[in-house]
Amino acid sequence: MTCKETLKMLNTYGWSDALQRDFTPFADVGLVPARVTVQQRGSYRLVTETGEFEGRISGRLAHEASLFSGSGGGHPVTGDWVAAELKGGAAIIAHILRRTTAFTRMAAGTAKDRQVVAANVDTALLAASLNADLNMRRLERYLATAYDSGAAPVILLTKADLCDDPGPLVEAVQAIAVGVPVLPVSAATGQGLDALAALLAPGKTAVLLGSSGVGKSTLVNALAGADLMATGEIREGDAHGRHTTSHRQLILLPSGALILDTPGMRELALWEAEAGVAAAFADISTEIEQLAEDCRFRDCAHGREPGCAVQAALADGTLDVDRWGSFQKLQRELAHAVRKEDPLASVAERKRWAAIHKAGRARMKAKREWGD
Ligand code: GDP
Ligand code: ZN
Repeated sequence: MTCKETLKMLNTYGWSDALQRDFTPFADVGLVPARVTVQQRGSYRLVTETGEFEGRISGRLAHEASLFSGSGGGHPVTGDWVAAELKGGAAIIAHILRRTTAFTRMAAGTAKDRQVVAANVDTALLAASLNADLNMRRLERYLATAYDSGAAPVILLTKADLCDDPGPLVEAVQAIAVGVPVLPVSAATGQGLDALAALLAPGKTAVLLGSSGVGKSTLVNALAGADLMATGEIREGDAHGRHTTSHRQLILLPSGALILDTPGMRELALWEAEAGVAAAFADISTEIEQLAEDCRFRDCAHGREPGCAVQAALADGTLDVDRWGSFQKLQRELAHAVRKEDPLASVAERKRWAAIHKAGRARMKAKREWGD
């Protein structure tokens, strides 16, 4: 491989003049620039000017990472640009270069520590299906997550082929996302794919954020012109086959654009979606719960049980039928999302519901106490 070709390799992955300037002090001490294409429990895959390497972090960086997490520190993640030392066919990551953008989530078990999930993402593709009912609050959560990261959002309304008239929905979504491109797309018919491809520039990195089943993998495959990702059809019944070790997390499309897809980003999407649903759910569930206090049976399922206060409230109009319907739907939706992403979670589901109910009650209590 000639020098020119190899330099082209880093440019392919988005190397820029600004990065080159940031890198100068590291070049002076003999380190090479690299981008993290796969991150897996302490091991990394890096692309450099001279090819791909397996990598790990230096002892010093590990120490620093434990001191400073947050959006500027922590461990390298997929998408990061790093300064590495090449040693006998392997790479040792010595520094993380300044991130232009970072997706973060709350670190497990802490209230304020944020953990970086993906770095240097230029475009956040927020996917929602035109097939199922569009959940505006969920989209708002995804938008907030995208803005938080610094990446520019684009809203993809997927499975347009299953919707006779997407127009009103596109308008409704556009109303909550002023200035954000809103594209109806269909991997099935190819609708909107050219417009989407035009938004993805060579050397720029995009992520897909959206609930399980909205068609993210199918879209990536359509853009790649190859089956890079296992889609829902294959994935069903194979809960463990989703992220194999060989799976590239930074996918180079034929157009030259990059798609970042990591387990961490998928978890973030689920987590954000859940938070949105939970917020909507907390309001309604509190209302139902208060009604349920008057049910004859403590374990009333609010179906055909005698003396059900919920059914009584529905009959006399105190409880709105639509509101009751959306409560039931949210309950199913959240339970389904949780089960689909993580089969083990169904065991923890009851606990989760208990926590959401508790949060809802606390909110109502606070409202009452503050006279709001
Ligand atoms: P992901 O979980 O977001 O990655 O979703 P998948 O890409 O696995 O797709 C979930 C299901 O939706 C699969 O059965 C796909 O075949 C189907 N699907 C994906 N895109 C489209 C589309 O544009 N139109 C239709 N009708 N179905 C689609
Ligand atoms: Zn009842």
